[in-house]
Amino acid sequence: MFKGLFTTLREWVRKPVTVSYPEQKRPVKARFKGRHVLRRYDNGLEKCIGCSLCAAACPADAIFVEAAENTDDERYSPGERYARVYEINMLRCIFCGFCEDACPTEAIQLGDVYELSFTDRSAAIYTKEMLIDPVPEGRQPTPQVTPPGVYTRSVPEMKDPQD
Ligand code: SF4
Ligand code: SF4
Repeated sequence: MFKGLFTTLREWVRKPVTVSYPEQKRPVKARFKGRHVLRRYDNGLEKCIGCSLCAAACPADAIFVEAAENTDDERYSPGERYARVYEINMLRCIFCGFCEDACPTEAIQLGDVYELSFTDRSAAIYTKEMLIDPVPEGRQPTPQVTPPGVYTRSVPEMKDPQD
């Protein structure tokens, strides 16, 4: 009886090894690979240029990209094209990070969100609107009207004419 009582008292004062999830969440490691995020430039334009290299690199065939042409009156990203449709099927994704490595503009990155649960299969398909960063404060959402000829190349470090 005393042995049992001692065990109870010892565990009562010992610091718990668990946390009260979901009220408490443990920080993830620096190299954690969670749900994807589509990045924007500081001026609000989208980094994704619709090249589909991420889809080609994906071993699980989880990414679908449909590109469309930018114009200066309706511009989503620097360069000629943008992703009109961008979808990732999270049921297929194995979080390998190959898409991130393949992207020439660092548009797709694996973030730290790990809370992915679905009640039906269609809810597992994350669209561009669900994945993309919010528009930076004070910037225009896409599509933007941009000066002619300024955004003809898909280079990441492009000077922002709005600055
Ligand atoms: S993390 Fe891997 S499996 Fe998931 S979408 Fe990217 S390339 Fe495909
Ligand atoms: S996320 Fe990157 S690799 Fe994928 S389509 Fe966009 S620019 Fe190309």
